[in-house]
Order: sequence, then structure tokens, then C-alpha cells
Amino acid sequence: CGIIGFTGDIEAKSVLLDGLESLEYRGYDSAGIAFFDKEVIKTIKTTGKVSVLREKAAFDTISDSTCGIGHTRWATHGGVSDTNSHPHTYGNVTLIHNGIIENYHELELELAKTGRQPVSQTDTEIVAMLLDSLYEGNAFAAIKKAIAKLEGAYAFCILFKDEPGVIYSLRNGSPLVACHSKQGAIIASDMVALIKYSKDYFVLPEMHIARLTKENIVVTNLEDEIIVPKLLHVNWDM
Ligand code: GLU
Repeated sequence: CGIIGFTGDIEAKSVLLDGLESLEYRGYDSAGIAFFDKEVIKTIKTTGKVSVLREKAAFDTISDSTCGIGHTRWATHGGVSDTNSHPHTYGNVTLIHNGIIENYHELELELAKTGRQPVSQTDTEIVAMLLDSLYEGNAFAAIKKAIAKLEGAYAFCILFKDEPGVIYSLRNGSPLVACHSKQGAIIASDMVALIKYSKDYFVLPEMHIARLTKENIVVTNLEDEIIVPKLLHVNWDM
């Protein structure tokens, strides 16, 4: 039940794992990360604690990835298993999700007609399938078409295989806050995961798309207009 995404100039894996630890209080049963290893997206996920994920991740030889996403899952659809843990990948799309997609079963039946079958029992993987089916090289176009079809509450961080270093994010009813600091761009379910990097942050408006790169975070509405969210400031230290 926690989300983090980071793209910047420092190693992503420890930013993600530390961030997930700070979100542990939200409760969860599984954890996972996915990150760009040059052109390839690698995923490590497991049931259990972030400490278990950290041990699994320690075996991974690539430690210089600077872009990735991390998730702690509180299972709602599909049991607690490694396969059902996030991130989920389908074709070009790798994503993490907090919330519930109410109409996932209808979408699954529709997507079956295109030959797409999920490997997990989650509502989330159906969204990866949906985005993959709508993606024709333009992430914004695919996301906007997907939003029109999705019913439910969600916060997503999404990686598209052809855009290394870029994270797309959006939410409807589930929290997401973001900041840009000298280390890079970071987005998470709660400010506690950002405070190490910046005390200035913003709340991602609902039904807007954030595009995170190491240089900046650009937020657009569904009419493709760039909007500048109001910066908030916290005074406390962690
Ligand atoms: N509904 C999704 C699942 O069961 C996401 C749950 C969550 O918010 O962690 O996998």
C-alpha cells in the first residue's frame, strides 16, 4: 500500500528500498521494485517484508540504475504471492498500483479478444495489459485512453520500455506527492518518503499526468495543458 518512483543522478535501488521502508507503516504483505538497467527493465519482487526484498536485490549485480519504481502491496485482488506482487509487466509497460480497479474483469474479457492473457490474479496486471494494448509509441495518448476506461481508485507509476529514465504517474482517489531536488525527481504515497531529498513538494492533482525525468517533473491535465502545482513546505526533519 505504498508507492515510490525515482529518476535522477544517484543510484535508484537504495532510494526505492529506503523509501519503501519509510512507507512500511501503511501496512503491506509483499514488496517489489523495477528499474531500468540501460535499455532493459528488471523486476525484483517478493512476498514479505522490504528487508526480504532488500536481500533479494543485493544479489542483483546492477547497482548503477538511476530510474525505477517501488511498491508495497496490500492484496485486494489475488492472493499473496510472488507472482501477484507488483511491479507487473505486460509488453512495453511496467507498472505499480495502489487501489482497486472495479471493472478489471470486463477489461480482462475485452483484452482476451486481442490475445492478451494475464499471468497473475490481480486487477493491476489488467491495467498493464490495457496500456500495452493502447500504446502506439505515445505514452500520454495511451494513458489518456486508459483513464477513460478505468473505474476505481488508483495511484500508478508507469515505465514504458522505450523511454528509459522516464516515469509516468497519475492518481484518482489514492495519494501521491512529488518533488524535484538536486538528486532528481521523486514521487511517493507520502511525504515521509521525500523528506530526505526536499522539504518542498506538491500534491499531484487527481486526473493529471506527471512525467518525471531527472531534470524536472512536468504535470499536464487531460487536455495536454501544463499546470504548475502549488509547492508546499514542511518544517520537520526525519
Ligand atoms: N489491487 C491491487 C492488488 O491487489 C493493489 C493493492 C494495493 O493497493 O497495494 O494487487
